[in-house]
Amino acid sequence: MIELTDVSKEYPGAVRALTGVTLTIGAGELVAVVGPSGSGKSTMLHLLGTLDRPSSGRVAVDGHDVSRLSDRQLSALRASRIGFVFQQFHLGAGVPALDNVADGLLYAGVPMKERRRRAEAALARVGLGHRLDHQPHELSGGERQRVAIARAVVGDPALLLADEPTGNLDSASGQGVMAVLRELNAAGTTVVVITHDRDLAESLDRQVRMRDGRVVDDRANGPRAAVTARW
Ligand code: ADP
Repeated sequence: MIELTDVSKEYPGAVRALTGVTLTIGAGELVAVVGPSGSGKSTMLHLLGTLDRPSSGRVAVDGHDVSRLSDRQLSALRASRIGFVFQQFHLGAGVPALDNVADGLLYAGVPMKERRRRAEAALARVGLGHRLDHQPHELSGGERQRVAIARAVVGDPALLLADEPTGNLDSASGQGVMAVLRELNAAGTTVVVITHDRDLAESLDRQVRMRDGRVVDDRANGPRAAVTARW
């Protein structure tokens, strides 16, 4: 699903955010990218999500070499194959959950009725089938994040990238959100979670540890039953 080969990223001012990162993530994996603030996690997410290009090295997503695609082709790849979830939810204020999710299909050329039908199904998938008409301010933090997840997966992306998805949530709501991400993964979506939360990282199948722009550790976690007991 994702292949980074000797990838480096420099920002203007000679800030080196990533140095020589080589990483392969297979279809169907559930992976945490974990590290302290400033270690390069967001930069990594931008590259995995084709929101940015590397300064050097090769990034391939879903079989496409990112450097060979035009901006337009990259947008099409993102719209059809990649879903994003952010710490801040980014839902439209005053917009019912159903329409917030349906808007995730705006650029896919799907007629409105069908967009709403699929949005309803996506909300049911994240356990919010009974909150279709609620606006963000009428929902709890955990529910808002689940709406954001429904929006990210309404187009059935192969890859879901989540940037600190539980960062603004209390631990019970965070567990609910992680359970939804696990279910999506079990149904076939490749999921990458960026986090600075070590316990969360330990609870996923695999963790890639970052420090100072480099991958310093990459390991499979033990049987899930052992770690879910802590949640
Ligand atoms: P993390 O997500 O782990 O906190 P980042 O990828 O955001 O790390 O940042 C890695 C390094 O790159 C940091 O030193 C940060 O200050 C720097 N950086 C991130 N984005 C930019 C940018 N747009 N311009 C310049 N420097 C940046």
